[in-house]
This record gives sequence, C-alpha cells and structure tokens, in this order.
Amino acid sequence: MAVSSPFKLKVHDIMHRPGQMRESEVDITLTEVMGDGAMTIPVGGVIENDLRLESVHEGILATGEVFTTAIGECSRCLDELKLPVEVDFQELFLYSGTEEDDFTVSDEQIDLEPVIRDAIVLSLPFQPVCSQDCLGLCPDCGVKLAENPNHAHEQQVDSRWTELAKFKEE
Ligand SMILES: [Zn+2]
Ligand SMILES: [Zn+2]
Repeated sequence: MAVSSPFKLKVHDIMHRPGQMRESEVDITLTEVMGDGAMTIPVGGVIENDLRLESVHEGILATGEVFTTAIGECSRCLDELKLPVEVDFQELFLYSGTEEDDFTVSDEQIDLEPVIRDAIVLSLPFQPVCSQDCLGLCPDCGVKLAENPNHAHEQQVDSRWTELAKFKEE
C-alpha cells in the first residue's frame, strides 16, 4: 500500500453537504524538499496551515493560509539565509472534474500538495538577498565587503595584471 501523503486530507464528513464547513490547523512536516530554486523548504521543514474546508455543490472549497521558513543563501554575499514565508491559497476540488488539470476529490480525499507547493514556490525570490543593501563579496578576493569596508589589495591584483599585460605584450 502506498504511503499516504501528509498533504492528503479526508473530507468524507462534509462531502455532499453544501453549507458544511470545517476549520482546522494542519501542520505538515516535509518528507521531500519543496522548491528547486535559490530558496527551498528543506526536508523536516514544517508547513503550518490554517485551513478552511467548505462544502459547496460542485465539491470542496479549500482556503488556507500557509506559514513556513525557506532556507538558502544570499545571492550576493552567500551568507545563509532564512526567510519567513506567508502565503494564501484557494482551490476548488470538484467531485467530477471535466478538464485534465481540474483538482478533484478522490477516495474522499483532497490533495493539497500541488496547491500549497505552487503558492509557496511562486512566492520565493529568485535572487534572495540578506538585505537590500548587501554589499556582496569583493570581486578580486572574495571577502565580504560589509565586514571589510576599507580593505584594498591593489598591490597583488595590480602586479598580477601587470604580469599579464607584460605577457600579452611579448
Ligand atoms: Zn548578503
Ligand atoms: Zn578584495
């Protein structure tokens, strides 16, 4: 038997009872990394979910607020970065979908994984920075400029360039 996903929720208690509503807090611990960009939610990361499920004629309407923490590194200085993530979602899970990409209720369950994944991943920055004025790294030696605001090494770099220039002249 397949291991059931922590994102799958049973909704049999409110199915086909329009007007019924259930509110719950669901914490989901990830068993797989979420996201594949500069910022991700790691395995073991917890996705807190304030969820409202409403029974409507066509299916189950799921509305939620999601809170979690993404990790990654600053795209300028490469410092480790943790970003709080807070996103909303709303999706209607139909009893009988007509389109291939319709979300549906199946086996009296709804699968929130693709919905929550999309909401979170779309909110993550492609080029995260630790702060908007992060100075990044020295392009010559790689030290962090914020910690070494006055550092200079014209000598070394210059001499190397001079050597190269000489080499080119020859
Ligand atoms: Zn930075
Ligand atoms: Zn430097």
